[in-house]
Amino acid sequence: PSDLPKAPTRTTCPYCGVGCGVLAQPGPAGGATIAGDTEHPSNFGRLCSKGSALGETLSLDGRLLHPEIGAQRVSWDAALDATAEGFRRTLEAHGPEAIAIYLSGQLLTEDYYAANKLFKGFLGSANVDTNSRLCMSSSVAGHKRAFGADTVPGTYRDLETADLLVFVGSNAAWCHPVLYQRMLAAKAARGTKIVVIDPRGTATAEEADLHLPLAGGSDTALFCGLLVHLADEGRLDQAYVAAHTQGFDAALARAREIAPTLAATAAACDLPPADVAAFFELFATTERVVTLYSQGVNQAAQGTDKVGAILNCHLATGRIGREGMGPFSLTGQPNAMGGREVGGLANQLAAHMGFEPASIDRVRRFWDAPRMAEAEGLKAVDMFDAVARGEIKALWVMGTNPAVSMPRADAVRAALKRLDHFVVSENVASNDTLGAAPHIRLPAAAWGEKDGTVTNSERRISRQRPFLAPPGQTRPDWWAVAQVAKRLGFGEAFGWRTPGEVFREHAALSAFENEGTRDFDIGALAELDARDYDQLKPIQWPARQGAARTETRFFANGGFYTATGRANFVAVAPITPAATPDYRFPFRLNTGRIRDQWHTMTRTGKSQRLSSHLVEPFVEIHPEDAASEGLKDGGFARVTTAHGHVVLRVRAEPGQRRGSLFAPIHWNDETASHGRVGALVHAAVDPFSGQPDAKATPAAVAPL
Ligand code: SF4
Repeated sequence: PSDLPKAPTRTTCPYCGVGCGVLAQPGPAGGATIAGDTEHPSNFGRLCSKGSALGETLSLDGRLLHPEIGAQRVSWDAALDATAEGFRRTLEAHGPEAIAIYLSGQLLTEDYYAANKLFKGFLGSANVDTNSRLCMSSSVAGHKRAFGADTVPGTYRDLETADLLVFVGSNAAWCHPVLYQRMLAAKAARGTKIVVIDPRGTATAEEADLHLPLAGGSDTALFCGLLVHLADEGRLDQAYVAAHTQGFDAALARAREIAPTLAATAAACDLPPADVAAFFELFATTERVVTLYSQGVNQAAQGTDKVGAILNCHLATGRIGREGMGPFSLTGQPNAMGGREVGGLANQLAAHMGFEPASIDRVRRFWDAPRMAEAEGLKAVDMFDAVARGEIKALWVMGTNPAVSMPRADAVRAALKRLDHFVVSENVASNDTLGAAPHIRLPAAAWGEKDGTVTNSERRISRQRPFLAPPGQTRPDWWAVAQVAKRLGFGEAFGWRTPGEVFREHAALSAFENEGTRDFDIGALAELDARDYDQLKPIQWPARQGAARTETRFFANGGFYTATGRANFVAVAPITPAATPDYRFPFRLNTGRIRDQWHTMTRTGKSQRLSSHLVEPFVEIHPEDAASEGLKDGGFARVTTAHGHVVLRVRAEPGQRRGSLFAPIHWNDETASHGRVGALVHAAVDPFSGQPDAKATPAAVAPL
């Protein structure tokens, strides 16, 4: 923007899925003053450590500021011509299966929409996947199986009006801090009980009334046991089950096979029976229950079944879509939800549609698409395997760092070097993925410079607004996609001049031939003029054209998006671990986040304040395991799996389960050459979602 605002700009934090509103004002000597937006309904003025340090992360150090081909600085025209030409050449020689684009939950909805439209509608390739595959795709698959659509039923307010909050595989105190603070405030005000179900003793577990440190991967058994308990104790909502669901008997029968009694459940989870009984009793006797779940559920080889087992218990009690109750998936990234909405997953089309013939035809007609993808594309792990085999020959990576974050990250980095045509859109000039020597580097505008929308965990669309001029020759990602599309001959369909025009098209598609038959509908926003878009206040979907906005929850009275309108209970599969520790690799490696870093640290790593919380990569291990492996607290350990090894500082932690290790995901070859734990993670994936299991790689640990 040429005329940068003098007053603070209302925008949205670029980190987690809470989606906090931020007031940002550029400082005279660079950086910006940051404050929480008291009018934003996600945070009402609060910010966590990461959000409040945003002003310290805006320096241009290490930014990619110019397009490059090889090591050569070039004009945008030259870079865009070469990008388009590489995809044209590959398409003509090898067909649409040989091209792909890999996106990011950090992108804005407008970026995501443009990329999805070009690849799925105009290049005929559904090889469009995203790092959200690593984050929440098991929740997507779980929602679709049970509800017939990827719908989060509840709202943040339900978390404050619940009487029982059950956290499953979620360290919200560190990963969704502002929302967690809202829940703690509600606990102080109304005595909300908190149960934390997590193998680790986390900051969230410290505040819990009851912590169940269950064996890794046994969540499904626990919720099967709960379903059996609810049935046997007469705690079902028989009327809701009869009127609005189907498949209950089969789901209960399967639950009885997996967890027939409370004692069997406790044994399967390696928990004291009295603690399991206490949890069951709390759940059974509390009407207002919200079950929140995050990566401990999603990042598992049977993650979709874990989601299903949780949803079963809420459907069986009719505790869904009503005030203070429901299942609630906490999304990791700022715009994982927006990506889902435009179809930024290889198994989705735009506007939450799948690859059914009617949906393919509907999207084709809306876009007037000349070469519509007719079948699902490759999900992330399969996509990079296809790159390794030489089947995908042209790849565009946008706003993400798969050479750090993908499972078997070393193999992914090696695979990238095989590509005939490799394009990266990035904010930074150097990271592990750029280390794989892309042919073309496109400089992307960053947070504070970009303009568009994101959607948070409660389906609330908020604006990210610019308050800094884009430095150098950086440009928005949607613009780069549109420019490439024009060079491929699709100028008319990609003629947007502003992100608002992209958004309006996206909103219109959500309402196209949608008479309440699909969950995602923001048709009311399709008519926004430029000023309305600019001033758009945070708004939850659905936002149907002509519909009164009286209810922001789904499913209180049924109305699911299955063919029958009834929710499906899920008979979960028997629990079979993807890999079992053995004499070579006797531990289970669990990976996750720390409080003050984000992803691969390209932004948070610039803040001294954030970097002083935990200063180096580490591995947590139970003190008795440390002793038996000859490790000293504070010493160094080599952690090895079948896929690689890293060297990490040892932290002996009594809160760590015996037989398990925990290591954070953030460090990489740019920040600490010995701490890139993605290289260790196996590539076992959930059969429904394709989400990798990042919580249970067999591993060995030894003193250095
Ligand atoms: Fe940003 Fe999440 Fe912190 Fe809010 S809770 S300030 S969205 S990182």
